Amino acid sequence: MSITEQKTASAATSSSTSFAALPLNPATLANLAQLGYLEMTPIQAASLPTALAGKDLIAQAKTGSGKTAAFALALLTNLNPRRFAVQALVLCPTRELADQVTIEIRRLARATDNVKVVTLCGGVALRGQRASLEQGAHIVVGTPGRIMDHLAREYLNLEALNTLVLDEADRMLDMGFLDDIATVTKQCPKERQTLMFSATYPEGIEKLAKQFMREPVQIKVESLHTEALIEQRFYEVTRHTRLATVAQLLNHFRPISTLAFCNTKQQCKDLVTYLQEQGFSALALYGELEQRERDQVLAQFANRSCSVLVATDVASRGLDITQLEAVINVDITPDAEVHVHRIGRTGRAGESGLALSLASMNEMGFVGKIEQYQKHASVWHKVEELIPTGSGPLLPPMVTLQILGGRKEKIRPGDVLGALTADAGYTREQIGKINVTEFTTFVAVNRAIAQEAMQKLNAGKVKGKSVRVRLL
Ligand code: ADP
Ligand code: MG
Repeated sequence: MSITEQKTASAATSSSTSFAALPLNPATLANLAQLGYLEMTPIQAASLPTALAGKDLIAQAKTGSGKTAAFALALLTNLNPRRFAVQALVLCPTRELADQVTIEIRRLARATDNVKVVTLCGGVALRGQRASLEQGAHIVVGTPGRIMDHLAREYLNLEALNTLVLDEADRMLDMGFLDDIATVTKQCPKERQTLMFSATYPEGIEKLAKQFMREPVQIKVESLHTEALIEQRFYEVTRHTRLATVAQLLNHFRPISTLAFCNTKQQCKDLVTYLQEQGFSALALYGELEQRERDQVLAQFANRSCSVLVATDVASRGLDITQLEAVINVDITPDAEVHVHRIGRTGRAGESGLALSLASMNEMGFVGKIEQYQKHASVWHKVEELIPTGSGPLLPPMVTLQILGGRKEKIRPGDVLGALTADAGYTREQIGKINVTEFTTFVAVNRAIAQEAMQKLNAGKVKGKSVRVRLL
């Protein structure tokens, strides 16, 4: 089977960006308006007409471009809520992504009565998931390995499936899920719609498509148009000055949140060690972290109590972090498309962003490829211009307190907020994000009150119980 239609779309070529132009029911349209989805994003405008027409689709667009709603609206359209069977399956590479997708599907499904979405990922007992399935699920979102477990045990039945979604397909391939995807797909009915979403288009994607899709329409939205808001600067470094230059960039620009990309895990480790020695608040995110460690790192970065997150491309895929003042390319990637994805992490949602790239002489070839791909020359600045600004070291505005106790102890964000505001007397503004995970809770508080807030929480109660709290 071949990919029959090639199409490159952009905001400019699509005819309408109003959701009302789509064959969606009025309740769904009203819900979209309520969610503040006033216009389709370019990938939605390019893919929804095809997806809603029931065709197979390969859609490629950068992270944060609204791909979830593009497939969620399609699978919800195919769904009959009165039929108590799994009708849609979304495969995702990681638990975090599966959780994000589940949240987005639930938001979009509010317009439809009683749609049940169940998340099936590893790291959680099978028993509870089995019970959720038994209570009736219309939509299952999960990681390939865990879905296979449920299929093997016959807890999950896909006979009534009509929509299969492969989300972040490139990342699933990177993570070696090809065989698992094949195993799962073979248990889906042949008569179905298959939708594949990806940020990049490596070779394996086409193989996957040929194996499992029927004459898919291919849609790609170029991500170049967002660049206006991103200021790119290149700096020439040597092997010996690279890490120190990262510190100079941080001291000069003083971004609150920076994502620093390295090409290798080793470079990530070296940079984090160096930055920590220099007094920066930096954490590393790379493949082999345990889920628990990953959750902790992500919570600290997202709640603004860590200045720099150092990551490889694979590890950072799918992170949905708004408010990223800067991206630093510590190494130049050999893949120009990856470069565009990296820098696209900043300058989101109309905010301006800074993309700083460090290149040594032997990376100039890669810089050339990036220039060709972006169709403009790079702007070079001198390292000598990087003088420290502001007073004192760069510190994140918040500090994370970790409460030993989470969902298992029935702690909810409101309980923690109550303990800090009503009981401890802080204002809402002094408290940042509150993340409750299964066994632990992270709460960000202003740096100035962190020590005292920890003491007050340790002395007081959350949800009527004493808790143990520590500073991260
Ligand atoms: P992707 O999967 O392409 O990385 P997401 O689907 O996670 O992107 O969407 C990124 C963000 O954009 C989400 O917070 C989502 O709620 C929001 N979003 C999606 N579609 C729209 C829209 N049409 N209008 C406004 N916000 C949207
Ligand atoms: Mg996505």
